[in-house]
Amino acid sequence: MERKIRKVAVIGAGVMGAGIAAHLANVGVPSLLLDIVPEGATDRNALAIRGRDSLLKQKPAALYSPQNLAYIEVGNLEDDLHRLSEVDWVIEVVVENLAVKQSLFEKLETVVRPGTIVSSNTSGLSIGAMAAGRSESFRTHFLGTHFFNPPRYMKLLEIIPGPDTAPDVVEFMAAFAEKRLGKGVVYCKDTVNFIANRIGTYGLMVTVQEMVKRGLGVDEVDALTGPVIGRPKSATFRTLDIVGLDTFVHVATNCHHAVTDLAEKEAFVIPDLIEQMVKRGMIGQKAKGGFFKKE
Ligand code: NAD
Repeated sequence: MERKIRKVAVIGAGVMGAGIAAHLANVGVPSLLLDIVPEGATDRNALAIRGRDSLLKQKPAALYSPQNLAYIEVGNLEDDLHRLSEVDWVIEVVVENLAVKQSLFEKLETVVRPGTIVSSNTSGLSIGAMAAGRSESFRTHFLGTHFFNPPRYMKLLEIIPGPDTAPDVVEFMAAFAEKRLGKGVVYCKDTVNFIANRIGTYGLMVTVQEMVKRGLGVDEVDALTGPVIGRPKSATFRTLDIVGLDTFVHVATNCHHAVTDLAEKEAFVIPDLIEQMVKRGMIGQKAKGGFFKKE
C-alpha cells in the first residue's frame, strides 16, 4: 500500500501542538488542531484558537509567513472527534500524563481509518504503555515522534518505535520527517525520556539544584550556561521558561519514578522553588512568565 500524508490532526494546541501545526503549515501540510472544550467558555474552540493565534505573536516567528495560518483548521475533541477519519496522521501533543494520553488513544482508536498513523509527542513516557490494550491495527501503526521546542527551528526528531510498530511505518515516518519536514531523525529505544531528554533533563535538574545550594542567581546561572558554553541562545532558566515549568515538572517526575539508580533518582527530585512557582502559575512564557517576565 502506498502511504501518503495529505492531512494531519494535531491533538493539543499548547506550546508544542501549535508549534508542530505551524511547522506542518510551513511545508504545505494542512492540519486540524484540536484541544479540549474549556469549562465555561463561550467558544468551544477557544483553546485551539488561542494556540493557533499565539503563532502570530511568537519571536522568533513560528510561521514562514502569517498566510500559512490558513493551513491550520481549529476545532475541539468533543465536536470534531469524528473528523479524525479525514486524516492520514494523528499526532498527540496533550499534557505529559500517561493516563490522559491512554484515554485519548482509546477514544480515537474507534474513529481513525485503519492504517492511519498515530504518534505521540511525549517527552519520555513509555510508547509501549500508551499502546497497551489497543487493537493490533492501532499498535502496528503507533509510534513516538518527539519534536523539540520550537519545532520550526529544532532539527532533531526522535522516532521511537513501540513493541509492535510495523517496520514499514517507522521507515515511512522517518522518510517523511527527513524529506518533507526537514528533520534529522534519531531512532530511540522505548526507554525513559529516550535520548535527548534523558540527558537534557538531568543536566537542567543538576544545574537548578546546584544553583539553589550555592545561592547563585538566575541571571548568573544563565550567563554561565548560555552562549559562553556554545548554546546559541537559551540558557538554563530561559529554556525552562520556554519549555513550560509545568511540563518540565511532569517530565522530571516521570523520570524520578522510572529510573532505578539512586543517584539519578535523587537528581530528578523537583526543587521547592520550582514547585512553588508552578503552584503560583509562574510556568513560563506560555503564561504570565516564569523566571523571566513574559516577552
Ligand atoms: P501545554 O501544556 O503547552 O499544552 C498541552 C495542551 O493539551 C493544552 O492546550 C491542554 O488544554 C491540552 N490537553 C490537556 N488534556 C487534554 C486532553 N485530554 N485532550 C486534548 N487536549 C488536552 O504542553 P506542551 O508543552 O505543548 O506539551 C505537550 C506534549 O509535548 C507533552 O507530552 C510534552 O511532554 C511534550 N513536549 C513538550 C516540549 C516542550 O518544550 N514544552 C517539548 C517536547 C515535547
